[in-house]
Amino acid sequence: MRVLLLGGTTEASQIAKRLAGDDRLAVTLSLAGRTETPAAQPLPTRIGGFGGWEGLARWIEANGIAAVLDATHPYAARISANAKRATEATGARMGSIVRPPWQRQSGDVWIEVDSAEAAVDALGPGPQNVFLALGRLELAAFARAPQHNYVVRSVDRPKGVPLPPRIRSILARGPFEIGSERMLLDSERISVVVSKNSGGAATYAKIAAARERGIPVVMIRRPVKPAGDPLASAEEAILWLHSLRVHERAPGSLRGV
Ligand code: NAP
Repeated sequence: MRVLLLGGTTEASQIAKRLAGDDRLAVTLSLAGRTETPAAQPLPTRIGGFGGWEGLARWIEANGIAAVLDATHPYAARISANAKRATEATGARMGSIVRPPWQRQSGDVWIEVDSAEAAVDALGPGPQNVFLALGRLELAAFARAPQHNYVVRSVDRPKGVPLPPRIRSILARGPFEIGSERMLLDSERISVVVSKNSGGAATYAKIAAARERGIPVVMIRRPVKPAGDPLASAEEAILWLHSLRVHERAPGSLRGV
């Protein structure tokens, strides 16, 4: 059975590791191409957009894809909407990793906003030392608030987007530990963190460290992300794929009796 795995997340990497070498499924991993040097993956990989939902539908048909497994980031809403539409149009099945959001805990000071634009407003007029735990494309919003000092952490050096003048870039790839997050908040004298509610363990340490230090977190709310069959983990996703594979084979096996 041919499968398209939409990736770019920890779960997608876990699924890729487990499916490598499983010759019952022919899986292609697809990455958006947001990072210059993505971590090596053990599956055939394609990189870059498909050209909207129609392009994705054409790709599904041309490659005989029976199932699309959406393991994209909770904030990558457009690719999921495209996958939903394309699978409906082609009759391919769609399963989606649904990663629960972090829940506010006692001691958390969260200011919830709807967008990076609204996060800029939430920082206020007075100068702050801001830790931006955001992707390159979201940084542009902060160019209109040059009064703050910013530290941004990303996989690649941010470029190709307007940036505020006082911004320092730290290059690092998760997962991140609580000890190093404490050190970062302390050494940079961070007064506010701006984050997405990504969920999962890999990037939670900054939220826990901010709670310990009493530092507020401007939390950008999740977008609406269309989903197929909801799947809670890499294990569940693999079971889902194999159950589809068995059903796909059933008519043929009956005919063969
Ligand atoms: P998006 O807004 O859902 O997607 C924008 C376009 O990128 C899609 O329409 C599609 O282009 C292409 N695309 C996205 N994921 C793809 C994939 N797996 N394979 C092929 N093409 C893909 O997603 P985004 O722009 O990547 O990110 C939105 C948010 O998610 C940001 O906050 C970002 O920081 C966060 N995020 C994304 C990733 C990631 O791997 N993409 C990882 C971590 C965080 P076409 O319409 O041309 O097909």
